[in-house]
Amino acid sequence: MSGEAILVTGGAGFVGSHAVRELVDRGFRVVVADDLSLGHRAAVHPQATLAVLDLGDRAALARLFEAHGFFAVMHFASKSLVGESMAYPFRYLRDNVVNALNLVELCVEKGVKRFVLSSTANLFGEPDVMPIDEAARIEPGSPYGESKHLIERILLWADRIHDVRSACLRYFNAAGAHPDGSLGEDHQPETHLIPLVLDAAAGRRSHIEIFGSDYPTPDGTCIRDYIHVCDLAVAHALVLDLLGERSCRFNLGNGTGYSVREVIDAATRVTGKAIPVREGARRPGDPPALVAGSALIRKELGWSPRFADLETIVRHAWAWRQSHPQGYGDRATVA
Ligand code: UDP
Repeated sequence: MSGEAILVTGGAGFVGSHAVRELVDRGFRVVVADDLSLGHRAAVHPQATLAVLDLGDRAALARLFEAHGFFAVMHFASKSLVGESMAYPFRYLRDNVVNALNLVELCVEKGVKRFVLSSTANLFGEPDVMPIDEAARIEPGSPYGESKHLIERILLWADRIHDVRSACLRYFNAAGAHPDGSLGEDHQPETHLIPLVLDAAAGRRSHIEIFGSDYPTPDGTCIRDYIHVCDLAVAHALVLDLLGERSCRFNLGNGTGYSVREVIDAATRVTGKAIPVREGARRPGDPPALVAGSALIRKELGWSPRFADLETIVRHAWAWRQSHPQGYGDRATVA
């Protein structure tokens, strides 16, 4: 498979850029399609080809497929903020679903038989059983989660009718940064816990606010499963082989949950700084706990996280934030 061309949409974003790195390291030719509305030109690997385009532009996408003869498509590009999707539900449903539909249709037309979807734990809303395995009931917690669910359904029919094999990878909380310091998280505005906690440690914010300390959890704060972005990237590469045989869906997390307070404590240890904390109100839509059951991907692909412990994840994120206080510093806007 090495030497084959892979299209990575959203390859200038956080998880996508780490996946591109993994694919390039494995010898694939990578073409990134990204509109740079959220991603960063500087996050695109120098050996990857960058096509700046809107995935809604089907003609431009078709030209890209024709030019490169892709072996597989990895689809990361999407709107992905749960809270924002509650404010703009139809924008999320339309953009995410239509863009994916364009891609899947082009895979069918151009004979691309492998498709990897960046999906989400939000498919499971507020699950009754923890850890959450692949048999858990799907009841999306937001229009964002619903948009990914609809894309998973589109892929099911692409498999049944057109033999396009797909892997739906449902991530929990992607975090960390590349250990060599070249890639990391740069969202504007930043809403995720670990980078915000680190900004509070660095004095770039006055404090970190804990969104709710009265949850039914041991310390009253929400529990999440933080997974290192490089471990996610490896899973994307591993799944390509399996797609030669069949479609699959995997939940991807460490299988261990940490509370907001535990994340703050880990960051205090890693940074050696006091982190001012304020207890605030719950954030609407936050379930008390989300922890992945990742036994299936461990068994079927032999995947296991290389950077499983929270302190390592936070240490890599801290190194990135210290070396790139302005992120990539290349904020690009859509033309
Ligand atoms: N959180 C928090 N303060 C913040 C940002 C996040 O207490 O400033 C909490 C949030 O309520 C959730 C956890 O941290 O329980 C992880 O949130 P994040 O936005 O990083 O990821 P999500 O779980 O929403 O995908």
